[in-house]
Amino acid sequence: MNHWRADFPIFNTPLDGHPLIYLDSAATAQKPQAVLDALNTFYTQEYASVGRGIYPLAERATQRYEDARAKVAHFIKAKPHEIVFTSGTTHGMNTIAHAWGEHHLQRGDVILMPAWEHHSTMLPWQHVALLKGAVVKYIPVLPDGTLDMNAYDALLSSRVKAVICSHVSNVFGTTVPVNALIEKAHSVGACFILDAAQSAPHGMVNLEKIPADFIVFSGHKMGGPTGIGVLYINEKLHDDMPVYQRGGGMVYEAHFDRARWRKAPYKFEAGTPPFAQAIGLAAAIDYLQTKVNFEQLRAFEASLCARLIQGLSLMPRAKIYGPVDSLAQEGHLVSFTLEGIHVHDAAAFLGSQGICVRAGNLCAQPLAEQLGIQGLIRASMYLYNTEEDIDALLAGLHEVVKVF
Ligand code: PMP
Repeated sequence: MNHWRADFPIFNTPLDGHPLIYLDSAATAQKPQAVLDALNTFYTQEYASVGRGIYPLAERATQRYEDARAKVAHFIKAKPHEIVFTSGTTHGMNTIAHAWGEHHLQRGDVILMPAWEHHSTMLPWQHVALLKGAVVKYIPVLPDGTLDMNAYDALLSSRVKAVICSHVSNVFGTTVPVNALIEKAHSVGACFILDAAQSAPHGMVNLEKIPADFIVFSGHKMGGPTGIGVLYINEKLHDDMPVYQRGGGMVYEAHFDRARWRKAPYKFEAGTPPFAQAIGLAAAIDYLQTKVNFEQLRAFEASLCARLIQGLSLMPRAKIYGPVDSLAQEGHLVSFTLEGIHVHDAAAFLGSQGICVRAGNLCAQPLAEQLGIQGLIRASMYLYNTEEDIDALLAGLHEVVKVF
C-alpha cells in the first residue's frame, strides 16, 4: 500500500460494493484531505470577494488569492504577475488564441502543432486561423507514438508564428523533448505555447529549464478543485497582448464611451475570479511540495506503467499505442485496444467492477481517425495508485476478453 493513498478520502468509500480502482487521473485527479480542509476553512471562516472590498475579511481573502498566485509562480519558477488564473487549460488556450493570436496573426501565417493535440488546442487555433487567414499545420506522429522531428524541421519557416505542443501527450503518454521544439521555434521567431495539462501534476514544469512563452494547465488534474487553471504569460509579451474578455476587475477606468485596462495579470482576469478554487489549488501545490518528491513520484508511476505493459504483453488481443519502452521508464499513462472489442464495452465492463479507466478518442478525434481506430482504453496513474490497482485492472481485462 502506498503511503500517499491514505491522504485521499475517496478511497475510504467502496464504489457500488467494490473497492475503488481509480485509473483515470489524466482526466481528473482525486483530492487530498488537505485541499478539502483548505476549501472548507476558506468557505466557512474566511470567505469574501477579492480585489474590491475595503473591509478586513475581503482584504484577507485578497491576500490569500495573491498568495495563491505567488505559490503557483514559485511552483513553475515564474513571477507572480506572469500568472493568470483561468478556469482551466481550455480557457487558458482560448485566451492565448484570441488575445495573442487574433492580434499577431496575419494572412498566410502558420501555426504548428502535433497531430495528437487535444481539442482544447486544435479547435481554438483552427477558429482563429480561419478568422485571420492563417493555416494550422500538423507535426506528424510516428507509429511509435513520438513526434516526427524531421517533419517538424521541414515545416518550420519564417511564416510560422506559433508552435503549440502538449508536454506529455494525453493520448500516448509520450514525454516530448520540448526544449528541442522551443529552440527551433524561437530560431524562426515563433512563440512557443506549452500545454502542461499532463505534466504540471507530475512536477515537470520549470521555466528555468523550459523557456516556453506561454504555459497552460488545470488545477483539477493535480489534486486541486475544478474550475481553476493557470495561464503563464512571459512578462515580455504582456504589453503587446490585448485583452480577451472585458468586465469588472480588469478595468482601470471606464467611461460611457471608452475604458482603460489594468496591467497583467489583472487585465486577463475579467469578472469575479475563481478565488476559492485558487486557494484550493495553492493547498494542492502545498500538499505536493511537502509530501512528494517528484522524481520519486515519476519513477513510481513509471513502475506502474511497466507492470501494466508487462501484463498487456501477455494478452494476445491487447495492442499498446505509444512509446512502450519510454512509458516504462518515465510514463504515467498507457493507452491500448483489445482486438475485436469496442473500447466503451471494455470500459463499461471494468466500471461495473469499480475499475475506472477512460475510453474513447481522448479528445483527439482527428488523430483517432488518422489511426483508423474508434478509440483507446487509457489507464492513467497518480500518486495514490498501487500495484494492486494494476493487477486488478489486468484481472478485469482478462475477464473482458473472456466475455466479449
Ligand atoms: N490538454 C491536455 C493534454 C489534456 O489532457 C486536457 C484534459 N484532458 C486538456 C488539455 C483540457 O483540460 P481542461 O478540460 O481541464 O481544460
